[in-house]
Order: sequence, then structure tokens, then C-alpha cells
Amino acid sequence: MTLHVSQIAPLEVFPPDISAYRKGNAGVDYVTVLDSGKPGPHVMINALTHGNEICGAWTLDYLFREEVRPARGRLTLSFANVDAFHAFDAADPFTSRYLDEDFNRLWTDEVLAAPRSSREWQRARVLRPFVAEADLLLDIHSMHLPSPPLLMCGMQEKAIALGRAMGYPQHMVRDWGHAAGRRMRDYGAFDDPASPRTAMLVECGQHWEHKAVDVAIESTLRFLRHCGVVEPDWIAERLTVDDPPPQQLVEVSGPVTIKTDDFRFVEDYQGMEVIERANTVIGYDGDEEVRTPFDNCILIMPGRQLVPGLSAVRLGRLVD
Ligand SMILES: [Zn+2]
Repeated sequence: MTLHVSQIAPLEVFPPDISAYRKGNAGVDYVTVLDSGKPGPHVMINALTHGNEICGAWTLDYLFREEVRPARGRLTLSFANVDAFHAFDAADPFTSRYLDEDFNRLWTDEVLAAPRSSREWQRARVLRPFVAEADLLLDIHSMHLPSPPLLMCGMQEKAIALGRAMGYPQHMVRDWGHAAGRRMRDYGAFDDPASPRTAMLVECGQHWEHKAVDVAIESTLRFLRHCGVVEPDWIAERLTVDDPPPQQLVEVSGPVTIKTDDFRFVEDYQGMEVIERANTVIGYDGDEEVRTPFDNCILIMPGRQLVPGLSAVRLGRLVD
């Protein structure tokens, strides 16, 4: 059954049952640490940073069912915002992104140290020790629009190198996140060019499309292949994309921040459209025209909530 919540969000995939993973083995609900007992990196794969982005939960479910095991180092599998995930309502699926505040805007030591009451902050504090000691982290997300999948690399070259080592998906974005707060993928050493510790965020497609689950699993297998903790043969047997197209790196130049409560785009942009000519009108903020600042301007992840203070869209240019 395909349930059309709106024009943009057919529910092809529903949340998986993750109750079997609650107990875990690390003293924290929904965290499992698989330890090879041999030296090697600590690799972490995280799902449900946003509660309604279920392709990551399906990916961890896949890894558990396929009995993934590290041959060296450690592999941590974590479900982050499980309380929001469990609040999923098929009649109103966007609202379970979070309960009190965005889990992915809390990731500085200052924010994590200063007492606050949100359930996301409490969960972030519990997960921090795992994140803080991961050598390599993959954080699995999805988008509200059916945009092509994206690797969100942050600002550091080491993450772009990681994206190139994955070789998939096609589009990589170098960006500095959000003014509203720091993402987990940018926490601590991940954003320090002097540290080898590296994180990647993958946006796999629309939240509830089948394709997003396929993208999430393929991306995760390729990430694991690069990390070298799981036997290469185990990964090779499960990869499904033989010859992905060459990757393209897009650099974000800046967000369009909304000023009025009457922002609208001139077209129904889905993301990754290329607007050929500089100075093209892409929307209106109240009476003010919003124009592209340069030729071949790429529209990255147009927003769903077009309210003052949030980004309507981020603008990027192809760098190679
Ligand atoms: Zn997300």
C-alpha cells in the first residue's frame, strides 16, 4: 500500500521493528559494540539521528541480520533518537524528526556540558563517549524531498578523501553545517584537520522511499570497505552498485536565510537543480526577489519549513 501523506511523501517504507536491538551489549540502550579482540580502528555506524529518517535503521537491521563481524578493531552500531523514532505516526510522519529539539545541533562540548532539559540532549550525552572515541563515523540520514543522494563532507579535506574512497553516491557536498548548532559529524576531532579521526554524513534520498534504503546499505558497505574492519569478501558479496558514475564535489557558498513569513520558491525545486544564469529569480521573500549569485548555481536541499531564521536552501557550485 502506498499512502500519500502529501505530494512529496509517499510512504513506501515503514519503520522497522528494532526492539531486538534495545538491550545491546554496551550498557546503553540501542548501542551494540562488536569487538574483534584484535587491534584496529573503532568504527561507528549511527542511525536515527533524526527519528523519521528510517533508512539508517533498516541498514543496521540488515547488518545485524547478516551477522556483520569485525575481523579487526571494533564496530559500534547505534540507533540515536529512538524516542522520536518510536513516536512515528504514518498520518504525520515529518513530526518524528525529533521530540524536543534537533539532536544534530548539539555537538559541541559547551552545549553538551551545559544542563538543559531536552530528551535529545540527554540522549546525546549518553552517546557522546562512543562518538568521542570513534576513529571513523558514518551517520545515516535522509531528506524530505526526493533529491539525489549526497555525502555531506563538512569542511575538512580528510572527509572529502573518505568520500572519494567510498566512491558513492555521486554527489559530495563540502559544507559548514548550520548556524543553529553543530552536527555530530563535525564534533571535536572530526573537524580538526590535524586529527586522523573522520566522520561522514550520508543523505540517502527521500525518507520513506525504497531507494533510500538501498543507497544507505550500499554507502555503509563502501564505508566499511574503506575502514578495513570487516573482511573484504563479506562486503564484496553484498555490494550491488558495480560501476557508479564519477563523483562530483559541490562547495556550498552560503545559505538563503528566510526573513519573512511569506517565503516561496518560483518552482517546485527538489534539490540539486542547476540554475544556469546568475541573477535568476528562484523565489520571493515577502516582496523581495531571491536571485542566484553566480552562474551554474546548484540548489541544495530546499527547506520544508519556510519560516524566518531557517535556511530556505543552500547554494553551491561544482568544484570538480
Ligand atoms: Zn537528517
